Amino acid sequence: MFHKTRLFTPGPTPLLPAAQFAMAAADLHHRTPEFRALYQRVLEQLRTFVGSKNDVVLLTSSGTGAMEASIANLTSPGDRVLVLTAGKFGERWTGLAKAFGCQPDIVSAPYGQTLSLEAAKAELRSDTRLVLMQATETSTGVRHDVQAVAEMLRSVRSSGSDALLVVDAITGLGTTHLDMDAWGVDVLIGGSQKAVMIPPGLAYLAVSERAWKRMETTKNPRYYFDLRKERKVAAKGESAYTPGVALIAALGAAFDYIAAQADGDLAKGRVALVENAETCAAMMRAAVPAMGMRLFAPDAPAAAVTAVMPPEGVDSGIIVKQLKARFGTIVANGQGEMKGQLFRVAHLGFFDPLDTLAVIGALEQVTVDSLPPSKFQLGDALAAAQRVLAERSRVAAQAPFEIAAVR
Ligand SMILES: *Cc1c(COP(=O)(O)O)cnc(C)c1O
Repeated sequence: MFHKTRLFTPGPTPLLPAAQFAMAAADLHHRTPEFRALYQRVLEQLRTFVGSKNDVVLLTSSGTGAMEASIANLTSPGDRVLVLTAGKFGERWTGLAKAFGCQPDIVSAPYGQTLSLEAAKAELRSDTRLVLMQATETSTGVRHDVQAVAEMLRSVRSSGSDALLVVDAITGLGTTHLDMDAWGVDVLIGGSQKAVMIPPGLAYLAVSERAWKRMETTKNPRYYFDLRKERKVAAKGESAYTPGVALIAALGAAFDYIAAQADGDLAKGRVALVENAETCAAMMRAAVPAMGMRLFAPDAPAAAVTAVMPPEGVDSGIIVKQLKARFGTIVANGQGEMKGQLFRVAHLGFFDPLDTLAVIGALEQVTVDSLPPSKFQLGDALAAAQRVLAERSRVAAQAPFEIAAVR
């Protein structure tokens, strides 16, 4: 049998062919009118994709670079910050805050669960300068309620709190509806190797006016990640240092593709991208129990990625290995102490529901022998996913008559 490689990891995700072509063709210098035109166009598309009127900054780094930039630009040594964490990426906020001499207060939820708003509110001090969280915690497949945290912060603002809300939406953008401006999020962070279907190497942030203002007085050191410098030169279509030119061309092509899914309207295309991820995730969630497995985050599941606990007594690493060896299908093992206990299947980026059927089919093949036939037959999980797809297609099309006629 042939093995066609299929990437189902929550970053890097499969590459969009049009973006790969754009990269290959991007043979241009960054201090030229040609690049400036490209950069300005992509920054404008990025703003639409993020869904904010705020200025956006594009950095040539992985996603963590934008997380570091947020801390470096928005804090001074000794600042109190509140970290809302429920997984490996939440813990990264704590590490970054400490590296820049901040004092982190930490509200955590067990892996697989989302945060308690009451606990967050209780930990918020009058001198908390930043609140740091994820929109979706990729290590556990959990979606957090960004809107609720933003509203809570708004409610305490009248009593003098000036805490800014910084959201790592690196797997949240393109998989969950986020309204930065309406909710009052101050920094929204994304990364290129996730929903936008291009390789790793670009990170981006949308930054509120309140946050730009904060940067005028903060004292922590910054040089490469000086956001105010980047903002200033970006207005002229420049970047402060040599940018990832080819990746920027790829990003433009990816935005064109997303827009093309909605008749050229990128904002609507973003909504379609989110709905696509939601559909793939719902299919996966229906398939998992049908294969005798359990969802790791059943209560607040992210559309970006589904974390799955393997059948009783099976190490998730075996499933990861088998999927690769037998079907060229790459899924992610658990991170850190979750290794062996769960595996993760991505839905963000250049996937469609048929890709999800493929990974479910492969999973059925590798797990069928570890379950008694009374519990599971080949096709059970596919059937469950197919029913979700049929239902969602019917709703999306709002035209059940033609489908019925075909039957
Ligand atoms: C991928 C990811 C990051 C960034 O990781 P990099 O390896 O630096 O790109 C940060 N947060 C979340 C939630 C992620 O999924």
